Amino acid sequence: MGNWNPNNPLGFIPTGLYDAMAQIQREYSTPEMPLSLKEVEITLLRAILEEKFGFKCDHDEERIITNKQDKTYCKWCYRRFEVIEAREIKKEFAKTIVKPGKYRLKKTFLDKEKKLEDNPRLGLQPDQRGGE
Ligand SMILES: [Zn+2]
Repeated sequence: MGNWNPNNPLGFIPTGLYDAMAQIQREYSTPEMPLSLKEVEITLLRAILEEKFGFKCDHDEERIITNKQDKTYCKWCYRRFEVIEAREIKKEFAKTIVKPGKYRLKKTFLDKEKKLEDNPRLGLQPDQRGGE
């Protein structure tokens, strides 16, 4: 049977998969970018859906939110973003004017993996592909 542990935020998950994800978490978590098991799970799920099943999210502006922990993400797919310029909402007379924000995709542990595969001799380089 799988690994059921009250501290495991994923609930029920087979032991082997749990261990593999916990290993990714240990390997890629940094003090600046702590990685939760849930995030490992969601990132892998999104990557497989994109790669094998054509899932695509345009991260529409209205789906991008910043939570109380100051994390900005797309609530449709949970992709994380860095805020370059915050969205502005102004009320002028009876009109509400929204100036869209500017965001940059945050790298995931998968981007780090890919970079190494792209050019093993260069190792980790500042990612030029960032953006979109
Ligand atoms: Zn999205």
